[in-house]
Amino acid sequence: TKFTELGLAEPILRALTSEGYESPTPIQAEFIPDMLAGRDLVGIAQTGTGKTAAFLLPILNGLADAGGPVEPKCCRALILTPTRELAAQIEQAIRTYGRHVRYSVALVVGGAKPFPQIRALSRGVDIVVATPGRLVDHMESGAIKLNQTRTLVLDEADQMLDLGFLPAVRDISAKLNFNRQTVLTSATMPKQIRALIKDLLKDPKHISV
Ligand code: AMP
Repeated sequence: TKFTELGLAEPILRALTSEGYESPTPIQAEFIPDMLAGRDLVGIAQTGTGKTAAFLLPILNGLADAGGPVEPKCCRALILTPTRELAAQIEQAIRTYGRHVRYSVALVVGGAKPFPQIRALSRGVDIVVATPGRLVDHMESGAIKLNQTRTLVLDEADQMLDLGFLPAVRDISAKLNFNRQTVLTSATMPKQIRALIKDLLKDPKHISV
């Protein structure tokens, strides 16, 4: 498979070329066309498989297709991740793959000052990368509303489980539009994650790499 066969727009393909990516990894080849088609997905994948690009490229592709943010609202895509280090890595990957796309991104993580996050959210952002605890704080204070969110990504769901974040993940997803797309990655499939998938995802395709 080639990246050009997956349905990605030209600004995304150009970024991949400048990164020196020659072909999609297996999870990218499986994820990208279905995610572009709006399907819910489960990826059983470790880090190092290219899972981050597998969910980021379709999100950025949607923003490239829209010609950039028309009326930035919070937020078209929400990515939940277990740690702030992982959130920072995802933000960096967004900058890399999105270098030819107009978008705005906000990092909403614990251990950082809340006010700059609130200011960024109030201006409207296309993509929020968040750890669940801090995001719930901002939801409770009214700093973030998620009724515009079309895509929810639960990255490293088993790590979020281990850190005790599943109740927060459930609270957050309960506030989202039912018609959203939901994508989940996890290295392992404990029964709590299987239950989460059953409750939050609609007829997901499962991919194991
Ligand atoms: P991840 O599994 O998302 O943590 O990605 C692992 C590493 O693989 C990252 O450093 C990416 O930059 C790199 N990577 C992701 N997709 C590709 C690809 N298609 N070709 C070459 N490298 C890639």
